[in-house]
Amino acid sequence: MPQGKPAGVPCVQLDDALRCRLFGHPERPAFCGTLKPGADMCGANRAEAMALLSALERATAPITLSLS
Ligand code: SF4
Repeated sequence: MPQGKPAGVPCVQLDDALRCRLFGHPERPAFCGTLKPGADMCGANRAEAMALLSALERATAPITLSLS
């Protein structure tokens, strides 16, 4: 994803089992290798992880201004 991965959009490198196709390969973005998963991001299961990640995406989304 040369322009970066927008919030709410799955990475194109995820396979059908939601595993990274680039894991262990030099083409994997450096940022992905430095991101350390933790309970505050992953929760205890997939449902908790999705809720936590959605909240993080909302909290860090760019502000859209309306000029009228
Ligand atoms: S680790 Fe990086 S490249 Fe792999 S699926 Fe996740 S965001 Fe995409």
